[in-house]
Amino acid sequence: MEQSKQARGWHQHFIGSWARLNCENMPVIPAWLVRSNLNDPRRIPYLLVWKEEPDGQIKEAVRLTCCVSHDSWCHVELKRTDGSTTVLRIVWRMLPRNGGRALLLACFSCYAPCRHVYGWEWDSVSGWSNRVSSISWQCRSCARLRYSSEGSALVIRGGPISRLLGRSFPDVPSPRPEPWLPYVFSSPADALAAGLCTLK
Ligand SMILES: [Zn+2]
Repeated sequence: MEQSKQARGWHQHFIGSWARLNCENMPVIPAWLVRSNLNDPRRIPYLLVWKEEPDGQIKEAVRLTCCVSHDSWCHVELKRTDGSTTVLRIVWRMLPRNGGRALLLACFSCYAPCRHVYGWEWDSVSGWSNRVSSISWQCRSCARLRYSSEGSALVIRGGPISRLLGRSFPDVPSPRPEPWLPYVFSSPADALAAGLCTLK
């Protein structure tokens, strides 16, 4: 009698799924940062730099420029060091109270207005679950990222510690990781002083 083959090997399973990486580990541009550039009376671009701790290695850098066209549509231009540029629409949403309005960024991929856009996603071509590749700045769901709290990693288990101390401790939630925000420079001189760029 023919033996039934295993339906799904590890590799087959891997190809069919998408590694869901945590959004807190990806470079993020919050909408409030774009708004502060738009409100800056100097009308200058900002240099955004993401550094990896603790060695301070620069992992991503973007020049952020807001543009207001003659028909008063606003865009933000995000230019990387390799010259590639993403242009996102700025969307204004009226706030229910006190007549204020919130600035949101239209995702490059689905155009949905969002408060945060992310610059990296999982590199599915690499075959490794921990490799990333840079993308045009997108919302969390287009970049297929999850919050760390969606996994179980945020709970510190009391069990093993309890055993070591001979007492019983409950499981406690660990604090939510902070988003990976950039350092912001409004002049080349500031960036130079911080050792982030060199004179030509
Ligand atoms: Zn999107």
